Amino acid sequence: MKTATRQVGKYFGGEFDQPFQATLANSRSEFDAAIPAAWGLAPTQCWMVATGVADRLVMLLPSAWATDACDHRAGDVEEARAILRHELTHVFHGQNNVTRDFTGMDDAAWFIEGLAVVVSGQLTKERLFQAREAAAGGQAPKSLATMWSGKHKYGFAGSMVQFIENKYGRDTLKSLLPLTSNDDILAKLEISESELLHDWETWLAR
Ligand SMILES: [Zn+2]
Repeated sequence: MKTATRQVGKYFGGEFDQPFQATLANSRSEFDAAIPAAWGLAPTQCWMVATGVADRLVMLLPSAWATDACDHRAGDVEEARAILRHELTHVFHGQNNVTRDFTGMDDAAWFIEGLAVVVSGQLTKERLFQAREAAAGGQAPKSLATMWSGKHKYGFAGSMVQFIENKYGRDTLKSLLPLTSNDDILAKLEISESELLHDWETWLAR
C-alpha cells in the first residue's frame, strides 16, 4: 500500500494531502460491509474487487478472488498491485475534485477511468494495440461520453488520457483534476470534442 501510494503521488508530483481510510477485505461480505450503504452498491457484483474516492479505498484481497470474485486471476499479485494503483488514482483525483466521489460525472468517466488506467500501468501494449485495431476497424467511440464502455474501454479511455498528456504535458493533465464536466475539460484544452476525438484517433493510428 505504501509503495503504491508513493508511486501514484509521484506521478502527480505531490503527495496525498488528505487522509483516507483503506480497507483490505478478506471476503466479499467484508468488502460489501466496508462500502457505504448510501452508494447502493451492495451486494456488489462479482467482477467488482475495488473502489476508491477521496476519503476511502476498499479492495478485496487477491487471496479471496478464487472464491469471492470473477474475471480476475486469483492470486495475481501484479494485477492486484495495478488495481491498487488504479483506485489510489481515484483517491488522489477525488481529493482534488469538488465532487470528492465523482457524483454526476458519468459523461467524464473516460477521464476518471482513463487517468486511473494510465497512472496504474493498466494501459498495456496489448490493450493499446487492441484499441488501435478496433479504431481502425471503425469502432472508435463517437463521443467522449461513450468512451468508457464496451470491451475496449481500458484501451480507448486510457489512450485518450495518454494522448492528452503527450500533447499538452503532465501539468495540464493535472490541471484537469478539479474539473467536473467534459465542457470544462474541453475549454481548458481549448479544443472541441470532435477535434479532440479526431486528433486522438490520428495519434492512436500512428
Ligand atoms: Zn476505476
